[in-house]
Amino acid sequence: MPELPEVETIKRELRPLLVGRTIVGASVGWEGCVDRPSLEEFGEQIAGRRIEEVGRRGKFLVFTLSGGLTLLVHLRMTGSLLVKEASTPWEPHTRLCLGLDDGQELRFVNVRKFGRLYLVADAEEVLGGLGPEPLDEDFRVEDFCALFESRRGMIKPLLLDQHFIAGLGNIYADEALFQARLHPQRKADTLTSDELCRLHESIRDVLRAGIKDQGTTVSDYVRPDGSKGTHQYSLLVSGRAGEACRRCGATIERLVVGGRGTYICPRCQETPSRSGQRGTAAGVRR
Ligand SMILES: [Zn+2]
Repeated sequence: MPELPEVETIKRELRPLLVGRTIVGASVGWEGCVDRPSLEEFGEQIAGRRIEEVGRRGKFLVFTLSGGLTLLVHLRMTGSLLVKEASTPWEPHTRLCLGLDDGQELRFVNVRKFGRLYLVADAEEVLGGLGPEPLDEDFRVEDFCALFESRRGMIKPLLLDQHFIAGLGNIYADEALFQARLHPQRKADTLTSDELCRLHESIRDVLRAGIKDQGTTVSDYVRPDGSKGTHQYSLLVSGRAGEACRRCGATIERLVVGGRGTYICPRCQETPSRSGQRGTAAGVRR
């Protein structure tokens, strides 16, 4: 699934292609991809709008349109956005195309049909529940620590919860936990302030590294021109079960945590049975 670095890459690459363009119309390949409004209203309302800005919030692409409407796109499992000449044939699994005034099309391709488009006057009706942006300049370590107050669950599912913090998915959560040397099954209320500082830093590090490499292509993520990211060559644990840890040489293991395949180094990331009691005494987290 595209995560923050992949969506950020798509945003950065779409921006010069789309800002200033006018949408001339929508062609639909599969009507279920439009969450709201109705398909008919979507087509009527989007035609003639100028794309004023392309942004990102969490894993959503945010297209600010003229006349006060916002188009939000969530790519979910297998979605991609391509910009192609309108005269070229649609790619397989193309669910929706927006024709542009320069003869190109913005194409939403989605094999597994989980991705959705939302055309709304108030973007907050879709984005309002999202947690903070981990790469915001003002997302300080104190803000990160505050999120953990009164949280008791395991850390990894918490990091994947978009209401808790926006943009992390399975790959970068595993990488961040490895870099912070934290076991994904550690309980949130056992983390010391040092550990939370490490995690805050490592989340930001792995996301920035992913953006620098134009994202991670392990299955079907592609950039708007159809090319792949390169961060898959720099992953330290994700997808590396059976291979040697690049830090200590131990064998990377795959676990299931909160229903998700999870990769750890059993030596670098101490198991909760040995470290989980840490921080349970009052006053450890300062
Ligand atoms: Zn290791």
